[in-house]
Amino acid sequence: MTVLDVAWAERWMHAAAADVRDARDELTELDRRIGDGDHGVNMDRGLSAVVERLDDPAQAPRETVGQVLRLAATTMMSTVGGAAGPLYGTALLRASKVTDRADLPSSGVVALVEAALEGIVARGRATVGEKTMVDAWQPAAEAAEQAEDAEDGIDVLRAAAAAAASGAEATIPLVATKGRASYLAERSAGTQDPGARSTAIILAAAVAAAEG
Ligand code: ADP
Ligand code: MG
Ligand code: MG
Repeated sequence: MTVLDVAWAERWMHAAAADVRDARDELTELDRRIGDGDHGVNMDRGLSAVVERLDDPAQAPRETVGQVLRLAATTMMSTVGGAAGPLYGTALLRASKVTDRADLPSSGVVALVEAALEGIVARGRATVGEKTMVDAWQPAAEAAEQAEDAEDGIDVLRAAAAAAASGAEATIPLVATKGRASYLAERSAGTQDPGARSTAIILAAAVAAAEG
């Protein structure tokens, strides 16, 4: 059994920060094509700040998964800016509220992903097909729900991450109707949504953190 505990949540944030840093130019290029070219830099700045605060010995040690996610939420809100800061911040804040325990069973992983999706929808009011990060989070939540009976929470995470990756790929042909990319209308087709792509990277990092 993989234990999805506080140490896992902290490894997740570290892995997310490292993987987003590696993908910074790719995310920036996607956002340059259909937005304002700052998504890679925004996300790198935010997740680097999250890691810095997690590693700060002056911070009280976290005792629940929710405390890790709450720290990440407030840091993302205050450092990322743009559309993605409040969206990821709200997602993480909602997720923190359903993960106030030392470790998560499979149902806790489902609750985490569902809460994150709910936060993003509450904040941005997008639905599936509008070429936003919802196109990654919604299939992730659905896949997590379907995998809820798995013995091991890592299987729920794997299902969510795989669905997020497919959902992000599936934004390529879509025409954006929310966010900055909607200004381009039909010209937004042909490029993957940057926020959907960063979502896929961050959920893949959750799996990697659980594996090692
Ligand atoms: P900005 O557009 O302010 O520069 P970012 O480039 O950091 O912010 O983030 C852009 C991403 O935010 C988009 O790729 C999309 O996934 C997401 N996004 C924008 N508006 C919405 C919305 N209303 N609902 C969900 N996601 C959104
Ligand atoms: Mg942008
Ligand atoms: Mg911007």
